[in-house]
Amino acid sequence: MTAIVWLRRDLRLRDHPALRTALDCHEHVIPVFCLDDRLLRGRFASGPRTQFMLEALADLDAGLRDRGGALVIRRGSPEQELARLIEQSGAEEVHFTQELTPFGRKRGLRVRRALERTSAVLCAHPGLTVADDVTEIRTQQDRPYTVFSPFHRNWSELPRRPVLQAPRAVQLPAAIEAGEIPTLADLGLEQEVAEPMAGGEAEGNRRLERFLAGPVDGYRRGGQDDLGREGTSRLSAYLHFGCVSPLQIESRLAGGEGPQAFRRQLCWRDFYHHVLWAHPDNARQEHQERYRGTIDWVEDGDLLAAWQQGRTGYPLVDAGMRQLLREGWMHNRARLVVGSFLTKDLGIDWREGEAWFMRLLLDGDEANNNGNWQWIASVGTDPQPYFRRIYNQALHMERFDPAGVYVRRYVPELASVPDRWLSEPWEMPEEVQRDCGCLIGRDYPEPIVDRRAAREAAKARYRAAAD
Ligand SMILES: Cc1cc2nc3c(=O)[nH]c(=O)nc-3n(C[C@H](O)[C@H](O)[C@H](O)COP(=O)(O)OP(=O)(O)OC[C@H]3O[C@@H](n4cnc5c(N)ncnc54)[C@H](O)[C@@H]3O)c2cc1C
Repeated sequence: MTAIVWLRRDLRLRDHPALRTALDCHEHVIPVFCLDDRLLRGRFASGPRTQFMLEALADLDAGLRDRGGALVIRRGSPEQELARLIEQSGAEEVHFTQELTPFGRKRGLRVRRALERTSAVLCAHPGLTVADDVTEIRTQQDRPYTVFSPFHRNWSELPRRPVLQAPRAVQLPAAIEAGEIPTLADLGLEQEVAEPMAGGEAEGNRRLERFLAGPVDGYRRGGQDDLGREGTSRLSAYLHFGCVSPLQIESRLAGGEGPQAFRRQLCWRDFYHHVLWAHPDNARQEHQERYRGTIDWVEDGDLLAAWQQGRTGYPLVDAGMRQLLREGWMHNRARLVVGSFLTKDLGIDWREGEAWFMRLLLDGDEANNNGNWQWIASVGTDPQPYFRRIYNQALHMERFDPAGVYVRRYVPELASVPDRWLSEPWEMPEEVQRDCGCLIGRDYPEPIVDRRAAREAAKARYRAAAD
């Protein structure tokens, strides 16, 4: 008896309900991953994220081989490739982890239709989110949630299933060729970031253990927001590709303040998956109807390029954008500051920011990215008015990077600028500029917009849209 496990964003062996169920009832199991050009070259194509994924696939393949099996790689659409594999292997069942994004759901539906023409049964499993089924979390009026806090209360009280161990043995049918994991170049993509994290379950678990061994306890007391300190888990990309199970992470958290604050953060991920599932149109348009097509966004390629390349003249914005270019990851506090700067100070459409993030982020995740971009652009589910989210990068620096550790790390031309001038270097007297070897306008850009005027323009833009 043979079953197929169709893998997507669940590239792990531990706590994998689909894999476990397939193994429990079948002698042979074919874990297959389909490299689908519709995704690889689609709207959110990304060299850095694909490279991370290829590493995660290689790690999974190694884990399966250690257990007597192998990862089967196919290039093509899953509806065709799965049907072909069923024909070749006589598989009776196809197990997969439930997806919630609009593309994931459509793809699931196409596979379901294609498999109706075969004798195999398609079986969905949990594993994407901490809670097994975030679509079942509903308000008292039996509606999906749009506000985080009550969602979080409800979510916290839900029972959890037991966390599953990794399987001991996996046996592939002899007649099935594993196929090869291609290189990034084979896929026609390029690595665009210089210092990316390595992909895979092994690395994800190492990071988890390191985080649980110390940083998690300080997570609430500054660890979460201190830009200079590596106080967060950096597990987002591992969570995005399912290299580590979100439930497995939650199950390891103790009861203190730090672990519980971290648990709440995991809930944001479940929340945004819930929101995008309930409102798939959010993927392309503002959640708030009054802002759909009504905001007079600025279209300026030079301003956008300065933001993308970290050359705005605003140190914290530039540090964040250059961290993204260097690592394919950015600290959450910096994501908020650069998001506010793009949409409010520059007045550029949040979709431009969403797309740039999706191109470079290793953790680029449609639900999380879209939800957070809509949040910072004040057009999403969050009920706060737009003027609450016009951030001042200098004030953020004073609070979250007071010694300038983060800014100096990512903007080396500001390394010798005295603390006093670091958040607003354009205010530096000329002789100080000369003394520290950083002439504004030559070594570091002048601010590309006037902050006060930009703030007023942003308010006017949103006011006009809502009228
Ligand atoms: C404009 C913008 C875009 C973003 N785009 C993405 C994205 O594409 N993918 C992504 O995973 N996160 C995104 N985030 C959320 C957040 O910045 C990252 O999840 C976090 O910085 C990842 O680092 P970490 O793993 O060290 O987080 P930790 O602080 O260690 O948090 C643990 C986990 O909780 C989840 N989490 C934490 N904060 C959030 C949040 N605000 N929303 C949703 N989940 C959260 C993540 O899965 C994260 O890995 C975005 C935030 C902003 C403001």
